Amino acid sequence: MKSVEIEVLVIGGGATGSGVAWDAATRGFDTILVERKDLAEGTTGRFHGLLHSGGRYAVKDRLAAEECIHENRILRRVAPDTIEDTGGYFVTTPWDDPAFGDKFMDGCKACGIPVEEIAPSEAFLAEPRINRDISRVFTVPDAAIDGWKLVWDCAKATTEHEGQVLTYHRVLEILRSSDVVRGAKVRSELSGEEFEIHAGFTINATGAWAGKVADMAGCPGVQVLAGKGIMIAMNHRLVNTVVNRCTMPADGDILVPIRTVSVIGTTDIRIKDPDEPDVTQDEVDRMLDDGEKLVPGFRKARALRVWAGVRPLFKDTRAPETSDTRDVSRSHALLDHKERDGVTGFLTITGGKLTTFRMMAQETVDKMCEQLGTERECRTSSDPLPSSKTGKFMWVGERLKEREATMHDDQLICECELIQRNSLEGVMKQRSSANLDDIRRALRLGMGPCQGGFCMYRATGILHDVERMDAPAANRSLRDFLQERWKGVQPILYGDQLRQARLDDWIFQGVLDVEHLPTDRLDDRAIGEGA
Ligand SMILES: Cc1cc2nc3c(=O)[nH]c(=O)nc-3n(C[C@H](O)[C@H](O)[C@H](O)COP(=O)(O)OP(=O)(O)OC[C@H]3O[C@@H](n4cnc5c(N)ncnc54)[C@H](O)[C@@H]3O)c2cc1C
Repeated sequence: MKSVEIEVLVIGGGATGSGVAWDAATRGFDTILVERKDLAEGTTGRFHGLLHSGGRYAVKDRLAAEECIHENRILRRVAPDTIEDTGGYFVTTPWDDPAFGDKFMDGCKACGIPVEEIAPSEAFLAEPRINRDISRVFTVPDAAIDGWKLVWDCAKATTEHEGQVLTYHRVLEILRSSDVVRGAKVRSELSGEEFEIHAGFTINATGAWAGKVADMAGCPGVQVLAGKGIMIAMNHRLVNTVVNRCTMPADGDILVPIRTVSVIGTTDIRIKDPDEPDVTQDEVDRMLDDGEKLVPGFRKARALRVWAGVRPLFKDTRAPETSDTRDVSRSHALLDHKERDGVTGFLTITGGKLTTFRMMAQETVDKMCEQLGTERECRTSSDPLPSSKTGKFMWVGERLKEREATMHDDQLICECELIQRNSLEGVMKQRSSANLDDIRRALRLGMGPCQGGFCMYRATGILHDVERMDAPAANRSLRDFLQERWKGVQPILYGDQLRQARLDDWIFQGVLDVEHLPTDRLDDRAIGEGA
């Protein structure tokens, strides 16, 4: 069987595994990341899209809250291209206890989360759709984060540091000799080829599947509870700010604007198999009802899609049994299998949140370095990811701006003769004449079936733009053109041509009122009379 020799094997291509690979590769380890599907096909591609400020956990889980704000600050620096800096509101709806706001404020301050209470009227100005019966509003530095972009950027950073990323490679077995893990046997899910990756160190970052992979290594009892959550994408940005209910974490209490949509979520139900998270109608109904509490009329918006993700919640086996996965800490767990199971060369990292993926990766690679007896400085808190080197946040209008930059030149001015704006401008600049009729001859502008009905007013505007003609001169040129066209059209006004002439007449006379546009010329006569 074919085999590959490397220093570090990372299993699992979600945020955690990609973060570990990024960290290990940038510290100079020869690294391979394997993922059984595509990157971020697990929970990372099915999460809510929120870069937590920590506010959500400030009352209930301070450790998680402190980790979130710590990482929130770092990711804004090293991964801004994946973040839309929407800001976040925690709002007290009529269904929430207003006194919780004080606990929330105290919790945020204790965890170092910048928080401010603002007047609801201020929030209504910024977010006109939110419930007008909201009585308290707090601002926190929540944001939206793109999980796919993040993971692929970590993969890019890994390959830029000579690492390899093998998608569609499933780990079938963990290779062990005596008490040492020596890599894994993998299978390409595309070609069916099986081979061995011999690694000096193996890291299990398989999220909700971490218990199964730990079992393969002969390290039983790693309990990762699967906490299912559903989310629904609505067809608009109903809000531009992340809006959270100011209450203990519950279902349907966060609305996140993500690019052109907004996503309401989520639930938290313990399920047995992380590969089978189903969505029930009851969950959907509850989620839409919860959306209504934040944005009245929520149900009237079009629901685009519903999906479910599975939280990897590591359960300390010493803690009492619980059926409510919200009671399990949102902090992460790094399992040192040398200490726990007497197995070296193997670590498991699971739990946590996407927001804390970088910190989880750093702790893991630090621990690996400690076990390997080497000191290598972590660079992921200082060196930005490849797409984030400009230091700019992602912005929802970015694609439109990019598109418009060239769209302007590519604009189709004359649909009949397929004349683009750049060729029209070229002719206008080359020719000294500002006469639209001269330009017509150069490009066949306005000579197709509509006879200038749709292109001529556009061309006039461009003429004004390019030649810096004043408006009366441009109007005059348009009127001259129409007059000239009219001569050739008038004698053949029957059938479809008559209909077209009538439409053109409505455009020029009815909409633009060319007859009365200022031209500074006394003898201009009405155009198209009788058409
Ligand atoms: C409903 C929901 C909403 C959430 N919302 C947020 C949020 O808004 N903000 C936030 O910060 N966090 C959020 N989280 C938490 C966050 O999404 C997760 O903590 C994070 O994505 C986990 O990443 P991961 O890499 O550990 O796991 P995953 O993304 O699940 O990655 C594990 C990978 O391991 C792979 N794998 C498994 N077995 C094998 C094998 N044998 N061989 C090879 N590969 C294997 C899987 O295919 C998978 O891709 C949410 C979670 C849920 C469920």
